Amino acid sequence: MQIIDGKQVAAQVLEEVAQDIAELKTKGILPGLAVVLVGNDPASQVYVGSKVKKCAELGMNSKKIVLPEETTQDELLEVIRQLNEDSSIHGILVQSPPPPHIDEAEVVLAINPAKDVDGFHPENVAKLVLEDETGFVPCTPLGCMRLLESAGVQTAGKRAVVIGRSMIVGKPMAHLLMSKKANATVTIAHSRTVNLPDLCKEADILVAAIGRPNFVTKDFVKEGAVVIDVGINRVDDATAPRGYKIVGDVAYDEVAPLCSAITPVPGGVGPMTIALLMANTVKACRQQNHC
Ligand code: NDP
Repeated sequence: MQIIDGKQVAAQVLEEVAQDIAELKTKGILPGLAVVLVGNDPASQVYVGSKVKKCAELGMNSKKIVLPEETTQDELLEVIRQLNEDSSIHGILVQSPPPPHIDEAEVVLAINPAKDVDGFHPENVAKLVLEDETGFVPCTPLGCMRLLESAGVQTAGKRAVVIGRSMIVGKPMAHLLMSKKANATVTIAHSRTVNLPDLCKEADILVAAIGRPNFVTKDFVKEGAVVIDVGINRVDDATAPRGYKIVGDVAYDEVAPLCSAITPVPGGVGPMTIALLMANTVKACRQQNHC
């Protein structure tokens, strides 16, 4: 059984990104990412902080814009408009979730699709479905595909089941797996799926993006399957220093022995997301500079 090391693969992606940035710098071009945070959600502050830190480590330009909780929709849209116009910024992301009075869909629509490095704008969703590679694909499923590739998993002709149909993970993951690049035969499962364990047991590749700790047990997994665990769930643990630990959607200890390959949590999909965000930003920069 192969444990797919997301930290190692993410480091490779970041190394490639660093080489790209170095090459762009020789042409006088510096990729830039703007991260907008509305409000003071502690988890969002951590995510935004680590994205900005990663930009600095890579020698990339970054702009962190923190707006108060009471920022209006129009004020936020004006910030986006300015970032769309700013030629030093190639990627824009608004940290999710915004406060409840913000209409997130309208905010996503306001971002120039060429700068939408999260891949949430409808134009980029369409490009994913059309398999137009000039579009931006959400970073987490992009990271999952890179993990499969680096683990040497052959996807063509394989039966894949994706549990979860969110726009951030499940749906784009299914599209990437069924694309003419990966050629898997894909089933998407969700909370209304019947006989979920039996369905999942048919999968050569099983992707869990549910948000429920240890939900996928050994009853879901065929011997020799590849399991990608996207879940990040906090569970109480009195023995942990902070009183909690992070677990995936897969009951790792009982599932891992059945698998040919599996991603751990933490250290699997998690580190890939930020690495692919950096890669998407460099891609956006190249496209905007036609190089
Ligand atoms: P969502 O809550 O948006 O989607 C969860 C999906 O799981 C839904 O489609 C839901 O079905 C389905 N689901 C929920 N309960 C069941 C069930 N009992 N049986 C079958 N399907 C079920 O979550 P996300 O896609 O945003 O995230 C999923 C997980 O991935 C979370 O743990 C999240 O923290 C993690 N995540 C990790 C990232 C990373 O960087 N590693 C990035 C993004 C997310 P329905 O549509 O019917 O409600």
